[in-house]
Amino acid sequence: MSDKTPRLRGALEGIPTYKPGRAAASGPSAYKLSSNENPYPPLPGVMETMAASVAAANRYPDMACTSLLAELADRFDVPVEHVATGTGSVGVAQQLLQSTAGPGDEVIYAWRSFEAYPIITQISGATSVQVPLTDDEEHDLDAMAAAVTDRTRLIFVCNPNNPTGVAIPRADLERFLDRVPDDVLVVLDEAYREFVRDERVVDGIDLYRERPNVCVLRTFSKAYGLAGLRVGFAVAHEPVAAALRKTAVPFGVSQVAQDAAVASLRSEDALLERVEGLVAERVRVTRELVAQGWTVPESQANFVWLRLGDRTVDFAAACEKAGVMIRPFAGEGVRVSVGEDEANDLFLQTAAAFRKSEF
Ligand SMILES: *Cc1c(COP(=O)(O)O)cnc(C)c1O
Repeated sequence: MSDKTPRLRGALEGIPTYKPGRAAASGPSAYKLSSNENPYPPLPGVMETMAASVAAANRYPDMACTSLLAELADRFDVPVEHVATGTGSVGVAQQLLQSTAGPGDEVIYAWRSFEAYPIITQISGATSVQVPLTDDEEHDLDAMAAAVTDRTRLIFVCNPNNPTGVAIPRADLERFLDRVPDDVLVVLDEAYREFVRDERVVDGIDLYRERPNVCVLRTFSKAYGLAGLRVGFAVAHEPVAAALRKTAVPFGVSQVAQDAAVASLRSEDALLERVEGLVAERVRVTRELVAQGWTVPESQANFVWLRLGDRTVDFAAACEKAGVMIRPFAGEGVRVSVGEDEANDLFLQTAAAFRKSEF
């Protein structure tokens, strides 16, 4: 056999591999709080819809996602041409990069932020420009605006930010957008929008309406509990929305996903009630952690962040031993999803015990 291997694009060299959240270890008391998933299964009615779609799995899905786009356009009061779906909002983000950036171009985003950004940016061939969060775990929007050059093509703004949970107030975001040139695409990644309760945080779709260079990303993976089906969407003006239609993986969103998404939008009240419960749990978890003595930034998402520095790995090990999988970022901190009440209880007990063991 030849010792030559197929030549791959140089852009792939050194790409950080996406690390999925650790699975729950087997056993009765194992909880997975590592991937910001919704702990609850789809609603019974949504599952019935899915089952009906599964029965037609010998057919390709509707490539144009007609019903889902119509439902979303109606729900958000936007032209249907301005909505584009993809294989999760990560899939849509990758299409946005394919549409805007390549070798020699720059993509700006805060760091630490969503782990997919550096990976999909590098695959595109463009260069990542990472702007450190402030000491308060906030986006440093002044520094991000100052980082714009004539090579900048796209800016990700993760609001609220994964993994810190901190959200950007409307006034700050508007001031930032005013400073970004009109020919640079700003992607407001709002994967956790439904968990936001701080009224100072603007709905990105309001900003999109007046700003042609703003694109909003949303997903069915978190609040709607369909992470396993891979469906997300963007709301954007032309020509960005048209570019998303061009770069879509053909038949990428399965019919099961499309139908489940439509059914979920139609059962929104029941789903958002569950979200309300998770928000209440987020408030409880935050309050108890603070009472235990931890420093916890105020999260507007379905997870909390503890900046633990060099205690990160030990803390994660203690949680794993207790049967709770969390997401450590070695040397930085841990992100802990808000899960079922029992999972949150077990996590809080473990955090309290860890703290006691340190003194
Ligand atoms: C979870 C998450 C997503 C959603 O990803 P999907 O591909 O839609 O499952 C997007 N952006 C951020 C910041 C996230 O945390």
